[in-house]
Amino acid sequence: MPLEAIWNKSLTIIEKKVGENAFELWFKPIKLSQLKDQSAVIEIPNRFFKDWVEDYYPTLINDTMEEIVGHPITVKFKIAEKEDSEVKRIDARLEGRKQRLASKGIYLNPKYTFSNFITGQSNQFAHAAAMAVAESLGKAYNPLFIYGGVGLGKTHLITAIGNKVADKRQDFNILYVSSEQFTNEVVSAVRHGKTEELKGKYRNLDLLLVDDVQFIENKTATQEELFHTLNTLYEKQKQIVLSSDRPPKEIKNITDRLRSRFSMGLIADIQPPEIELRMAIIQKKAATERIQLSDEVVNFLASRVKSNIRELEGSLIRLGAQSSLTSEPIDVSMAKNILKDIISEVDRPITIEQIQKSAAEFYGIKYQEMKSKKRTKEIAIPRQVAMYISKQLTGSSLSDIGKNFGGKDHATVIYACKQIEGKREKDEEFNRKVESLIKRIQG
Ligand code: ADP
Ligand code: MG
Repeated sequence: MPLEAIWNKSLTIIEKKVGENAFELWFKPIKLSQLKDQSAVIEIPNRFFKDWVEDYYPTLINDTMEEIVGHPITVKFKIAEKEDSEVKRIDARLEGRKQRLASKGIYLNPKYTFSNFITGQSNQFAHAAAMAVAESLGKAYNPLFIYGGVGLGKTHLITAIGNKVADKRQDFNILYVSSEQFTNEVVSAVRHGKTEELKGKYRNLDLLLVDDVQFIENKTATQEELFHTLNTLYEKQKQIVLSSDRPPKEIKNITDRLRSRFSMGLIADIQPPEIELRMAIIQKKAATERIQLSDEVVNFLASRVKSNIRELEGSLIRLGAQSSLTSEPIDVSMAKNILKDIISEVDRPITIEQIQKSAAEFYGIKYQEMKSKKRTKEIAIPRQVAMYISKQLTGSSLSDIGKNFGGKDHATVIYACKQIEGKREKDEEFNRKVESLIKRIQG
């Protein structure tokens, strides 16, 4: 098959996978410039494209091309534009470090370090805990369990622990694994009768980092293996660090003893970033990527892209890419235009229905029950919380809110709000839950 045909075919598949928007912006300008045996060279307009594609779809081009040619392929990026020499130097340094660690069997993303992790109120606690663990392995908190929503820095933080330890202790065995990969290894070890090898790999470590541990829900054999692994490491005073999108007690389908093992050290959460942190991250990232931004644009981004740091960085990279392609400076109107698919969502006012849906999902009840007359505690409290949040976040009148909750009157809404306010004051745990629900709804 000629080069062009292979690439066109790949693009068609890629477009289906990523959607039209991302495709037009990021993949269309990419060309396949060489394909020899198992290695392909992809020509990409500038390093923003490379960054973005590597962050968001690290294996997509590879997987797609392999699918088409039917054998393994290694993809290399070639950047068409002349690169900034400083950026090049940093890239080369990171790559060198990565290779050095890889030669010792340590695979850690070199980009994720403590020195480029910016702290604010929302992640301070998790950051301090991670630092403490990296300073005194196996002694401070074991395991350290970090949880928080998507794109808030969990992978960055736990990898930073690994990188710091790797720099300090050349002789240490460090392993980063996603819980999906761990599951695959367990399954394959069982199938091929190689469980001893698996044990050898995981039980002789100084530091084990398990990312996104919530994926082992419902996987009995994996849970069993993980439990014994953690126990062995713990008894040898070897450090364990786990990340998850939720706290141990909300990981439902795992064994009690594994859940309690998760909870035995320190549990630290990462909350969505506050505005000051969002601004600081934009400024720092813009400086390292050499993107010129006015204060106005920094403010605009920080106030519009709220929920997730990955998205914040993605927005910035998009702007960098656009500005470098057109040679136009970045201003607010460019930002509005380029980021409209992200920002319009944020701009839309919050509706009562949306609050009801989120609250129902949050408390594990049915959406219809928000409008029902049932008075059991399991339903009445989530319903009152949803009324209370509706009063806080929408401009609706009390009687409108009541109507939306199955035809209740405004007095019922007032009563609900009073109840929830009182409960928030008295009950710290309840208060935290309501707060995190509100944040989730605000997205
Ligand atoms: P998660 O694992 O929680 O989904 P990641 O660790 O992958 O999130 O973070 C998403 C992106 O945001 C990464 O590029 C990461 O470097 C960046 N990031 C997250 N938190 C911070 C922070 N506090 N300072 C700098 N960059 C951050
Ligand atoms: Mg992650």
